Amino acid sequence: MATIGFIGLGNMGGPMAANLLAAGHTLKVFDLDPALAEPLIADGATLAETPGDTVAGVDVLVSMLPNGDIVKDLYIRDQALLDRIDPATLVIDSSTIAAEDAREVHEAAKARGVGMIDAPVSGGVGAAKSGKLTFICGGDAEDVDRGREVLGAMGKAVFRAGPSGAGQVAKICNNMLLAVHMIGTAEALALGARAGLDPKAMTEIMAASSGRNWSLDTYNPWPGVQDGVPAGNGYEGGFLVKLMNKDLGLAAAAAERLGAETPMGELARKLYGEHAEASYADKDFSSILERFRNSE
Ligand code: NAD
Repeated sequence: MATIGFIGLGNMGGPMAANLLAAGHTLKVFDLDPALAEPLIADGATLAETPGDTVAGVDVLVSMLPNGDIVKDLYIRDQALLDRIDPATLVIDSSTIAAEDAREVHEAAKARGVGMIDAPVSGGVGAAKSGKLTFICGGDAEDVDRGREVLGAMGKAVFRAGPSGAGQVAKICNNMLLAVHMIGTAEALALGARAGLDPKAMTEIMAASSGRNWSLDTYNPWPGVQDGVPAGNGYEGGFLVKLMNKDLGLAAAAAERLGAETPMGELARKLYGEHAEASYADKDFSSILERFRNSE
């Protein structure tokens, strides 16, 4: 069992840290909001007073933070954690950030002899709680292998997409596709319903036909079609529209930099941007259905 430092105990990081504790690892935790550490401390974790305390004497450091600026502040700017970390420590950043930001931090880690991987996740808060996240890693194969046991306590699958930053690239490609097929699913269901068809019956038909996709058969946006999805709970929880917009912004920036044509991704970004402005920023992304359903 490892001694693990964990920074960022929000919607995702909190349950991920809880799963590390449940697997028997020793945990030191830190968040800007100390109240988020309380349930973990009740279960045996130690509270780190500062980010610097989190890295002392740990085998692995995991971070789960909102964006690239915060990750860079922590590792290479304000807190400069990489300057004080023992080179034997493996650093795993699971935040979703731009691939260039990940590479910049990795380079700094490499220069100090510290192994680091980017390991953004697929799967939302539910998968974080049930320990069924998919980790999409970038970094040296040896470092990804060193992280497998710890990642395995929080997820059901660990992939190595390629060198540093590759995990972030694969993650935003996946989420761009997710946005596109969620919008397509929502507009198809709304069109059928407007023509008088039952969305549940349509779902059964399309799930057995060539329109089948994850947004349709696992995360259906129409309330009442499936149990246990945000559509059945007023679109509360789940994967928030504002986070989808962040990922679509990262995808658009990557496409521009690489000269790639991503018309569907761009349209999805426009529609999700409008959806956030229509007061859905803090709702699950499947709420995009309401745009098509309400446009009658
Ligand atoms: P969140 O806002 O709930 O949690 C982030 C946490 O980081 C907060 O508790 C905040 O206090 C803490 N924090 C911010 N700056 C800090 C600092 N300098 N030091 C220590 N703690 C700091 O966000 P989340 O939903 O847990 O998402 C975290 C990451 O996971 C994001 O990059 C997000 O894109 C990604 N992600 C989220 C989901 C999801 O469904 N929520 C799914 C996949 C990936």
